[in-house]
Amino acid sequence: AAERLANKIILITGASSGIGEATAREFAEASNGKIKLILTARRFDRLTSLSESLIKQYPDIKIHSAKLDVTVKESIKPFLSSLPHEFADIDVLINNAGKALGKANVGSIEDEDIDGMFQTNVLGLIHITQAVLPIFKAKDSGDIVNIGSIAGRDPYPGGAIYCATKSAVKFFSHSLRKELINTKIRVLEVDPGAVLTEFSLVRFKGDSDAADAVYKGTQPLGPEDIAESIVFGVSRRQNTVIAETLVFPQHQA
Ligand code: NDP
Repeated sequence: AAERLANKIILITGASSGIGEATAREFAEASNGKIKLILTARRFDRLTSLSESLIKQYPDIKIHSAKLDVTVKESIKPFLSSLPHEFADIDVLINNAGKALGKANVGSIEDEDIDGMFQTNVLGLIHITQAVLPIFKAKDSGDIVNIGSIAGRDPYPGGAIYCATKSAVKFFSHSLRKELINTKIRVLEVDPGAVLTEFSLVRFKGDSDAADAVYKGTQPLGPEDIAESIVFGVSRRQNTVIAETLVFPQHQA
């Protein structure tokens, strides 16, 4: 894997915590630090700490951190065109930024939560993909990894909006893969089951009791378990597309 990853430029959305942060660490480890990471999220201070810790561990690694809110469409192209020269020719886009919001019964969910989930999980992902695609098309190479969810395959009561966003990610990913089959651009989707991150804290807007209750009595995966699958997919031989990966903890039904 290290050889196939060497010197690749990897753009990660939502790299400030959870799966995105773990993915940055996993790419660094799998390439022995011979990689260029573009770390993005809204919480820039988190990106700075992650970058500092990776540079300490891997002196050769190149990291560019940038504040990017994927829901602000107008900011995406300027962000890409302002990348330092050595980071501009992106090889891999990890569309990881995403969230569930609120108590999600259709009758009671707040409008702002519906909008927040669609704007981040669906529209943000689509807009950044559209903006990066010309870079991939120009060199006929590149990987797009979309983070879906078990929620996009197996809907549950109380999850109508989140499940709808993640099934949208699934059909977007598959359609785009088919649209690009005559190119060397790959589209992969990784669908996590339960993973212990800040996901539930965000969902319940900082209510840690509600967030902890979600995982009580369960044995969720760690974010590094999902990161491994992402890096595995990206480091396959060019003609191999791991189009969908569903990653569960052993005890999840
Ligand atoms: P976290 O809450 O730990 O991480 C979410 C990341 O998304 C953060 O880095 C956050 O950064 C970023 N983010 C949120 N909104 C925006 C935005 N508008 N613009 C840019 N970045 C944003 O959760 P996870 O790591 O668990 O979630 C990562 C992905 O995995 C999501 O797509 C989620 O839906 C998916 N997933 C998670 C599962 C789980 O059980 N944890 C299960 C299945 C799927 P910041 O706030 O700094 O902007």
